Amino acid sequence: MTGQHTWHGYSSQCHTQASFDELAFLALWHNWASDAARTTHLHVVAHTAQPVQAEALLAAAAGHSELLPLAQQLAAQCWGLLPGIHRLRFALNDNAPHNTPHHTPPAQDTPERSESWHNSNARLLLTLCVGPHADWPEFADVLRAHASGPCAVPTDIAALHERTVTVIGAGIAGAGTARALAERGWQVTVLDAGAEPAAGASGLPVGVVAPHTSHDDSGVSRLSRAGLRLMEQTMRGLLTEGVDWGCTGVRERRLPGKTRRGGVPLSWLGTDANTANDWTRKAPPPAPDDAYWHPRGAWLRPAQLVRALLDHPNIRWQGNAKVDALKCVTRETQTHHATQNAHRQNTSASKWQVLQNGKVLAESSRVVLAAGPGSAALIATATTDGGAPRINPLRGQVSWGLMADVPAGSFMPTTPVNGNGSFVHNITSPEGPAWYTGATYDRINDDARLLDGDHAENLERLKALESETANALGPLFATVGTSAPRVHGWAGVRCGVHDRLPMTGRVPNAPEGLYMNTAMGSRGLTLGLLCGELLAAQWHGEPLPVEARLAKFLDATRFKPKA
Ligand SMILES: Cc1cc2nc3c(=O)[nH]c(=O)nc-3n(C[C@H](O)[C@H](O)[C@H](O)COP(=O)(O)OP(=O)(O)OC[C@H]3O[C@@H](n4cnc5c(N)ncnc54)[C@H](O)[C@@H]3O)c2cc1C
Repeated sequence: MTGQHTWHGYSSQCHTQASFDELAFLALWHNWASDAARTTHLHVVAHTAQPVQAEALLAAAAGHSELLPLAQQLAAQCWGLLPGIHRLRFALNDNAPHNTPHHTPPAQDTPERSESWHNSNARLLLTLCVGPHADWPEFADVLRAHASGPCAVPTDIAALHERTVTVIGAGIAGAGTARALAERGWQVTVLDAGAEPAAGASGLPVGVVAPHTSHDDSGVSRLSRAGLRLMEQTMRGLLTEGVDWGCTGVRERRLPGKTRRGGVPLSWLGTDANTANDWTRKAPPPAPDDAYWHPRGAWLRPAQLVRALLDHPNIRWQGNAKVDALKCVTRETQTHHATQNAHRQNTSASKWQVLQNGKVLAESSRVVLAAGPGSAALIATATTDGGAPRINPLRGQVSWGLMADVPAGSFMPTTPVNGNGSFVHNITSPEGPAWYTGATYDRINDDARLLDGDHAENLERLKALESETANALGPLFATVGTSAPRVHGWAGVRCGVHDRLPMTGRVPNAPEGLYMNTAMGSRGLTLGLLCGELLAAQWHGEPLPVEARLAKFLDATRFKPKA
């Protein structure tokens, strides 16, 4: 059942600490990093009743010169450790200066270059369970399930032995899933109908990544924090800050008419105030009374991230590949069991063909549908009853213009603002520094053509959000529909289901091997990567990056009637 294998450069090991011991953790990390024969992935699962304090950690490591640089990296990630599960990620090359663009993988896998690629992709994943056991009985299950030793990858599942997967859709959800699987040794083929990656909603010129808050700290609020943490780690590692993304913080306004239960949980004003402030706090004056400040909020050019995610030696990307059907074929396979007496065994396993006009575009042991609004039609070609979950298309349009056209002296907020729509400015674009505002939100509409009426709607939203800026941009909006418009648009189609949470996991009523990761709604930039990481962790029996009950909220079978 278990054993240490290397699949396309991937190997993993687990280490459990029933009570997080900072120095022991740092020593383990140091030994792993110094070991030329290390596994590419080291999972550490640890419990701590109280959040780890950065200052105490640095003080404890002060007398250990070899551990101090690692302690500094850990301290930098010890923010916002509210009760619950947190996934901290450390790459082997985290000492390298940030802001270096993503490097190209080796063209030829020579042993030396392959070693350097895998070294630069080796990572330690710390799953920190924060809070007293009495309040979090599930922590005991997490610690029990991941005992120290080689990770218990179930090698008797043929797909996990073969590790070939086709991901349909190269948006943030598909690219995030592809990357999470490629890092675990899967050979991933990513197909997309578009000529370039990010041809759908993830082609959005710029978007906002920010946590969701609610009085009852709902599932989406908790998931959004886990998603934002992963996004920040990923953007910092793969993109150039200031060009492709900016960790500027985001100011949010709770405007009248928004349906969501705003505010923050009561505990954030008392016992958890310090750690909660790292995520969200009341914005200080002169911000309006309804304003909150998310210090970790960011803006992102998502297509840049999609491209960087796909840039991995285990990923093959193919554009102009519109899939129209999926077919499950069963075949004989050989499964390798790495027990003491290694042996091979013949079993039958599912194999999936991905088709276009009857032609096989790709064949693999698993398929992940991340085709946004196109997912439901593909699912219907593969389910036993021809049915598919109801996934609604949600059209949206942003308005944008060049900073050069903004009248001198116009009021511009110092950071991105969101609430009912958002406003972001001074963003690099092919045409020059630009501002963006929007977006509109049209239910059950899959029309991505630009509409002048949506520009007017975006201006109205901006008036409520930031009236002085709206007044300054008003004359530019007046040029819409003329022969020389100075406001332009970008429209796309998001998609979602009625509880507004993603659908991640096995496709209901389909043969084994078909999975989905879609329905990101208006939060794909915050949740897309997290869902991909979750799916990959589930396939491998790894510690999950979120609490199991949160993972259940995302389960793609959640609407299936119980038998
Ligand atoms: C106007 C607008 C503003 C938004 N603002 C924000 C924001 O500020 N913050 C935020 O978090 N989110 C925002 N979103 C939502 C976010 O963009 C989406 O949630 C996210 O991009 C969805 O990613 P995805 O990978 O699931 O889907 P997509 O990016 O749509 O990717 C699906 C891919 O599948 C491909 N495809 C479809 N059918 C097929 C097929 N049959 N064969 C092959 N390929 C296929 C498509 O070409 C596409 O590339 C916004 C969305 C819009 C439209």
